[in-house]
Amino acid sequence: QGGDGSGGGYAFYSQAMNQRALHRLGIETGLRRAIAHDELLLLYQPKLDLLSGAIVGAEALLRWQHPAQGLILPAEFIPVAEETGLVVRVGEWVLEAACAQARQWQQAGIAPLRISINVSAREFTSALPERVRDMLARYGLAAHWLELEITESMLMHGVDNIIGIMDQISAMGVALSLDDFGTGYSSLSYLKRFPIDSLKIDRSFIMGIPDDGNDCAIAGTIISIARQLKHKVIAEGVENREQLAFLRKAGCDEMQGYLFSQPVMAIEFENMLREGRRLAL
Ligand code: C2E
Ligand code: MG
Ligand code: MG
Ligand code: MG
Repeated sequence: QGGDGSGGGYAFYSQAMNQRALHRLGIETGLRRAIAHDELLLLYQPKLDLLSGAIVGAEALLRWQHPAQGLILPAEFIPVAEETGLVVRVGEWVLEAACAQARQWQQAGIAPLRISINVSAREFTSALPERVRDMLARYGLAAHWLELEITESMLMHGVDNIIGIMDQISAMGVALSLDDFGTGYSSLSYLKRFPIDSLKIDRSFIMGIPDDGNDCAIAGTIISIARQLKHKVIAEGVENREQLAFLRKAGCDEMQGYLFSQPVMAIEFENMLREGRRLAL
């Protein structure tokens, strides 16, 4: 099965499978330990308002500070965590850490600010609304300071059920954002059916601005659709002033990207806020 019928093909195939399984097991075991031993951390990337240049939000981005391997990026462990289901535990940790941080910033009297977290499809179960509600209550946070970023691809699985869960979360006042918009198997009908507040234009469309006419057209169209549907629109991965100028002119509401800042440690983010750092427009 799976091989080309020759013994060698099969051996190769099963060996590759073993390696994959081992790799996955290693990550899974490591990740369990990481949760227990506090090896996970959140970095924060500022979201900037394109009219004022002010920092209006933060996207929490997960990192794994591995004792031997150093800092590991989510691309290396989130897919495995999704496959094994461990992403639910990881997601609980992320939700709590982000709420704790939001609370701390509010108590410190630093400008109130919306924190966005990324949520995987596997986390999107009927238990999620309750978990979010509990966490907001535990940290005394108003719901509108929290935003969940979800990717379009997750909307493909059991769409009806997901709409119900999204409705419950949205009814609490938590914002919902469609991440990486335009990639995957997007359907414009999703925009009509899902109770979302904002769209994030995927970085792959921002990259080619202003030279690539297709990227400009796609980004411009997404902005225009979002505005007509009364959704907020945000560009991710903005790296230069030409992109910034294009997006402002096209009517994009917010942006995040290396042009202003990479994801940074909470303390560094706090310093930016205290200094009133803003995007030069
Ligand atoms: P995403 O949600 O689309 O996040 C944006 C990614 O682009 C982040 O990568 C960010 O560091 C990077 N980025 C931001 N601005 C720029 C820029 O100007 N240039 C370039 N080249 N990159 C930029 P990161 O932190 O490695 O995260 C990758 C993905 O991992 C995220 O994509 C998200 O899908 C997932 N992820 C991150 N944290 C979590 C989490 O807590 N839970 C779950 N389930 N997924 C997460
Ligand atoms: Mg995101
Ligand atoms: Mg994104
Ligand atoms: Mg992305």
